[in-house]
Amino acid sequence: MSDSSFATAYTIQDVQQALASLNGKALVFVDVDDTLITPASHLFRHSSPYRSLIDDLKASIATTANFETILSQWRLNRKSILVNDAWPSLINTLKKSYATYALTKMETGSLGDIPSMEQWRYGELMEKGISFTPTFLGEEDIVFMTDDAQPFPPTFYKGIFMTGSYHKGDVFRLLSGATDAPPAVALIDDRPAYLEDMRDACRHTATPFLGILFKGVELIPGAPDPKTAAFQKQQLLENGRWFEDDEVNLA
Ligand SMILES: [Mg+2]
Repeated sequence: MSDSSFATAYTIQDVQQALASLNGKALVFVDVDDTLITPASHLFRHSSPYRSLIDDLKASIATTANFETILSQWRLNRKSILVNDAWPSLINTLKKSYATYALTKMETGSLGDIPSMEQWRYGELMEKGISFTPTFLGEEDIVFMTDDAQPFPPTFYKGIFMTGSYHKGDVFRLLSGATDAPPAVALIDDRPAYLEDMRDACRHTATPFLGILFKGVELIPGAPDPKTAAFQKQQLLENGRWFEDDEVNLA
């Protein structure tokens, strides 16, 4: 199905309008990367030919030595910015009306040089002034049991659901098995495939689903300098070191 089955939002006002009809007991999920925050470096701007660097790295997990160290060093050292400065106040507003959680597709537990992905992600969102409904079923720290042998289980930590090796729809299946079905689910995400996945999971339990495709990153100006970006890519992949744009000196 095309994007047309979802609402499209570029601004916080667009998001508010899309959510306006939502039932008060609905669950609201918000994606993190490229929805709430995005890397500061111009290498990752929407129009950049290099912007898939981290996705490409993840796809080469089997062939990249020190994959986990490289990925964790990037995460620990890359600076990030809010995709829209009004996100923190919108999340605070949403929390008053709905159970509002982050839902992020990411490895869980320890990864490379990061001892807890959950605590790292929680800390970086707190630094940006973003915090979610802190508990799920009265708990603030959950590792979900799964019956297959994927390396990373889904987790919940202080308002943030992480998929681990699973999909966003799988997380909804797990939590809808643990609690009464919510009257509706909303997901705000920059990736149509993740909205489709959640829509399909909701359809399975006949839960009304509101998907909002958030394209705020397209409004962020800037483009990478090709020589700087090539250097950043090389240093990351070969040496596991990340340099911000203003730390690259090619002279
Ligand atoms: Mg995203």
